[in-house]
Amino acid sequence: MNDRSQRTGALSRRRALRHAVGTLGLGALMATADAREAERAGDAAIGARESLKITRLETFLVKPRWLFLKVHTDAGIVGLGEPIVEGRAKTCAVAVEEIAPYLVGKDPRRVVHHWQAIYRHAFYRGGPILTSALSGIDQALWDIKGKALGVPVYELLGGPTRDRVRVYLHTSTPEGIRDGLRRGFTAFKAGPAGRRASGRIENKAAVDHVAEQFAALREAGGPEADIGVDFHGALSPQTARLYIKALEPYQPLFIEEPVQCQNVDVLADIAQGTHLPIATGERIFTKWGFREILEKRAASILQPDLCHAGGITECRLIAGMAEAYYATIAPHNPLGPISLAAGIQLAAAIPNFLCQEQVSLGDGYLKRPFQVEGGYIPVPTAPGLGIELDEDALADKIDHDWRNRESYNADDGSVVDW
Ligand SMILES: [Mg+2]
Repeated sequence: MNDRSQRTGALSRRRALRHAVGTLGLGALMATADAREAERAGDAAIGARESLKITRLETFLVKPRWLFLKVHTDAGIVGLGEPIVEGRAKTCAVAVEEIAPYLVGKDPRRVVHHWQAIYRHAFYRGGPILTSALSGIDQALWDIKGKALGVPVYELLGGPTRDRVRVYLHTSTPEGIRDGLRRGFTAFKAGPAGRRASGRIENKAAVDHVAEQFAALREAGGPEADIGVDFHGALSPQTARLYIKALEPYQPLFIEEPVQCQNVDVLADIAQGTHLPIATGERIFTKWGFREILEKRAASILQPDLCHAGGITECRLIAGMAEAYYATIAPHNPLGPISLAAGIQLAAAIPNFLCQEQVSLGDGYLKRPFQVEGGYIPVPTAPGLGIELDEDALADKIDHDWRNRESYNADDGSVVDW
């Protein structure tokens, strides 16, 4: 028996079993087993032309501050997504609930069509809540499509464009850099190591402190280490210029969000005043948001968040726009392993990928957490997003009451960014 007839035979057996138990109410269970079998066998869970319909959208809060989404189908295939903006998990859950009536009963494989319908029929377009809800749904629909066809998402996007995906490690101490190097990481991101929350034009002592802190990181990492700096948009433009000038001798990989991105002209002025690459994007949504960044040369490293900017569908288009400006993509991701999985699929489908942010490789959340080897995660081969939740491990992580930080100027109590 050749490979094709073996696959066809296995598929037929699963279909027959599913039909046999369907009337007993075990259809969904059987089809889930089908999907798992397909993952192992590397073939499609259902035929490409078989009917497939969304039956239900289920969200659940997951510690420390995440929101996971399961999109259920009548074939038992379940798509995973993270439809969340940090600090507004419950708001995003309601946004998903309001979108659900549009999706239920429809074929999940029309991913781009559904993206267009959800985005444009909202009438009031974009913004963090609606695009984050849309982003998580988009991830889940791609997951379903890949699982239905038995291939990773990047295969559907023309990939793979690489064999492994470089990730960076968060650390702001020399010890952290040295430890990361020992573990194989070659790329890092540090906070600005300021002495306090910045809310005004900083003095020479503050500027010198930031430079000294970064110099210690550079010394620990050596000239080969890539170390980015994230200012979280918390600086005034005046202070941002001073900090960047002081950091230039140590050549950070990038300067992330030196100022807020609401006034792109100000960010562009800063970008044109330094040779260091400026990075931004975690608070920018859709191709329309990134269009202005690119056109004004406000950043050369774009950091769209797969959970905010419009999901895999939109981030792939943003990457294409960036390529025309010789800009690179370094997806933002302080969220969970579904977000990481989506970023890895994107990295494996685009040519201008730089590095992927991560704070969780999925330990305690996934049946097979991601593994970092020499600073890289091998491109996964399982269908869809390539991950499976560990429901038993997740049981004690359900629900949270995360609230965003509140920061005030230590001198006068006025509000500052965090
Ligand atoms: Mg950031």
